Amino acid sequence: MTEVLEAPARPAFANFVGGEWRPSLSGQTYEKRNPMHPSETIGEFPASGEADVEAAVSAAAAAFPDWAATPAAQRAAVLTRAAEALERRVEQIAQDMTAEMGKPLRESRGEAARGAAILRFFAGESWRPKGELYEQTGGGVVYTVRRPLGVVGLITPWNFPAAIPLWKASPAVVFGNTVVLKLAQDAPLTGLHLAACFEEAGLPAGVLNVVVGRGSEVGTPLVRHPQVRAISFTGSVAVGRQVRDEATVLGKRVQLELGGHNPLIVMADADLDRSVEAAFAGAFWSAGQKCTATRRIYVQEPVYEEFRSRLVERIEGGAVGDPADPQTEVGPIVNEKQLGDVLAGIERGKAEGGTILAGGVRLDDEAYLLGPTLFEGVADDAYLSCEEVFGPVTSLYRFADLDEALRRANAVEFGLSASIFTSDLGAVQRFVNELEAGILHVNSQTAGAEVHVPFGGIKGSGFGPHEQGRSALEFYTEVVTVYQDA
Ligand code: NAD
Repeated sequence: MTEVLEAPARPAFANFVGGEWRPSLSGQTYEKRNPMHPSETIGEFPASGEADVEAAVSAAAAAFPDWAATPAAQRAAVLTRAAEALERRVEQIAQDMTAEMGKPLRESRGEAARGAAILRFFAGESWRPKGELYEQTGGGVVYTVRRPLGVVGLITPWNFPAAIPLWKASPAVVFGNTVVLKLAQDAPLTGLHLAACFEEAGLPAGVLNVVVGRGSEVGTPLVRHPQVRAISFTGSVAVGRQVRDEATVLGKRVQLELGGHNPLIVMADADLDRSVEAAFAGAFWSAGQKCTATRRIYVQEPVYEEFRSRLVERIEGGAVGDPADPQTEVGPIVNEKQLGDVLAGIERGKAEGGTILAGGVRLDDEAYLLGPTLFEGVADDAYLSCEEVFGPVTSLYRFADLDEALRRANAVEFGLSASIFTSDLGAVQRFVNELEAGILHVNSQTAGAEVHVPFGGIKGSGFGPHEQGRSALEFYTEVVTVYQDA
């Protein structure tokens, strides 16, 4: 007989500092609303400030010596128990994620479940050897060890509110660091669920501290705090560069995962059914609010007309609406300001000569719903071709040969992800060698990441070691070389 487990309680709508759930020392809160039903409040969350950061860093610093000295197997065991706790809450986390930031439920469920996989992967990584043994010319041995850094600051966006905090916090904690995690204001509840999972798993007090609040009130003091050794940041280019500049001047280690402007190239020999589906999913799932979303679609001339009509047809048949409906493919934009920014991007696209083939308008007076929007005739140097509009907006371009496609695909300052659809191995090889992006997909959409492989952008899309997989060890540990004679 299967045991029926009761869903665990929701976490407190509070910071998690020193192993306790605490209101902000500022005494302030803010209201988070549902982007599908903006009159509905998700809850009152702490509007934290510098004093909360100070308390969280102090708790993390106090917890560091014991945690760093804890055997790796015990640290791993905590992550495994946190994964089990998360698995019991997947549905609850998915429902809350959808309500607070509008990701369609079917994607929220996948992301919540992926969170447990991230925890389990890093529990396993904890067991791997981390140093290297060398011969010494005069006898004896030389070897390297990897040590944790100390207190690390993690700053996360709202668009992957389970996966991104976990792909930072899991390696940070399992390799022996202690953490202050600053959650995005638009998706605090999902991140607080993660803290509750660690609490349930028996993580010692102070190893993971979670603070909710504005970037300027919480992020800035965290970046500047002298006891914080490293900052891992995921978010927009503008804020990321500011964080990098401040932190590196202060001698901190910095990792940035930023925006993208990701191209999809469709060659004349591509499977059109699959490439149209990849274009739709890549551009419009999560309402295009993914760093790896498809922003430019280059289609080779002989199949351009056919591809365009099939993509327009796919958009017209797409399920746009309430993200809590498991059938919905495209839900709302996260908040009113973001909706305004996306609509302004669309207006600019039109003003610069682009033609709208689908979407382009708000679909509801209340919900922040925007129809999946497809442009064509956008110039290569126009705003839409160069800047990230963080919503369900993409553009079609026609090209003659692969040289031209690669040149135009590379002509942006970003370099996060890219995709090609073709059956020509020569074209694949050139794409792999020449396309300037950190994540390349062949015959699959631009978005999507496995938990056990490195993830990160090049050019303007990233800075420092990539995240996830074996790359995480690079960022969250430092190498010490030991010369040892008998
Ligand atoms: P954002 O840059 O506005 O905010 C990201 C985080 O930084 C938030 O927690 C925010 O409060 C904080 N912040 C803001 N100002 C700060 C400051 N001065 N100092 C320190 N922290 C500060 O980004 P967003 O709107 O939350 O997320 C969307 C962006 O993130 C998009 O550009 C998207 O492409 C990017 N993104 C990148 C990846 C990736 O892995 N490359 C993944 C997801 C999202």
